[in-house]
Amino acid sequence: MKIIRLRDGKERSLLRRHPWIFDSAVAKGGADAGETVRVESHAGQFLAWAAFSPLSKIRARAWSFDETQRIDAPFLESLVHKAIQARARFDIQSDAMRLIHGESDGLPGLVVDRYGDTLVAQFLSSGVERWKAQLADALLQCTGLTRLYERSDTSSRQREGLPPATGWLRGSGPTELTLREHDWQLTLDIATGHKTGFYLDQRDSRKQFADHARRLSFERVLNCFCYTGGFTVAALHGGAQHVTSIDSSAPALARAQAHVVLNGFAPERADFLDADVNASLRSFIEQGRSFDAIVLDPPKFAPTAAHADRAARAYKDINRLALKLLVPGGVLFTFSCSGGINADLFHKIVASAGMDAGIDGYITQRLGGAPDHPMTINFPEGEYLKGLVVMTK
Ligand code: SAH
Repeated sequence: MKIIRLRDGKERSLLRRHPWIFDSAVAKGGADAGETVRVESHAGQFLAWAAFSPLSKIRARAWSFDETQRIDAPFLESLVHKAIQARARFDIQSDAMRLIHGESDGLPGLVVDRYGDTLVAQFLSSGVERWKAQLADALLQCTGLTRLYERSDTSSRQREGLPPATGWLRGSGPTELTLREHDWQLTLDIATGHKTGFYLDQRDSRKQFADHARRLSFERVLNCFCYTGGFTVAALHGGAQHVTSIDSSAPALARAQAHVVLNGFAPERADFLDADVNASLRSFIEQGRSFDAIVLDPPKFAPTAAHADRAARAYKDINRLALKLLVPGGVLFTFSCSGGINADLFHKIVASAGMDAGIDGYITQRLGGAPDHPMTINFPEGEYLKGLVVMTK
């Protein structure tokens, strides 16, 4: 058994059951990638069992804070089982959902989404990489399914020193799938789509947007960073007369366009722009266009707090431009999925965008990830997705 000894005072976050051990906290000790280590305080007190990551800044991730716990296949299966059982108690209006959300489910670095009868997994840390076969078996065992596709092709995996890995881990079949969410259907390709193929975390915000469209009878809607058009379809479902959608990914736009027809809406009610959002917003302002509602759901501008400054400027810029494009009484659904920007800072960014645009608005709602992307009491970093609904004065 290998031991990691922490520097004096560095035990505090582990005593609060926060699962990460940074490289700067380690005084001595090491192990192979993914190997289970015993983590001790400077004074030699047991703190946690953890998976070692020799190359990552997050040098180890805790599996358990119980000294008597064995880290083995039955233990991991019990965590998988518990996470899946929790989903049955969450309010999830879809046949697609996140089954395992990493640290929040006690499985640091593991993401598993279910799309109907197909599972898609990302193994993003050395710990879950080492236990991949056992975790794959547990996932099939606990769901009764037979198909599991791997999409371990992210930059976080590079930071762990792990090569990308994609393809069927268990079973096989088509990678093109259809999901049902609230009152609409959407398609995805788990082999080529972003992340595991789809942004499940925005499910309930899309529903909120549909409800707003219905209640406020939106005529012209602008959906920025539309990906495959989830918010577009939601708006049309809510009765919005016309939706303009912008993204810089041509395959995503083609799918978004197909989704309008798939859901039974006339194609004339939607148009699609393969363009940069910032540039498009500026040219809409020059053209004197305006909208009743705008969605801003950009990619992660700040992956970590170190990028927060530059990201804050980018968020502020698009929010300022969007606020200028809204009619009085218009509605902005604005989001940040950056872990490096917390809810408080995001509010401040939108406030200063409003100042610069010369526009005030009511914050009528705060939004977050759907319940199958939970945060936990011990892991505040789990709150990565923040949204504000702003109604301009
Ligand atoms: N709202 C979407 C998810 C958005 S993900 C949903 O509900 O499914 C972010 C999207 O922004 C991606 O599709 C990506 O292609 C797009 N994107 C990234 N940078 C962009 C830019 N500068 N201009 C336009 N689109 C961009």
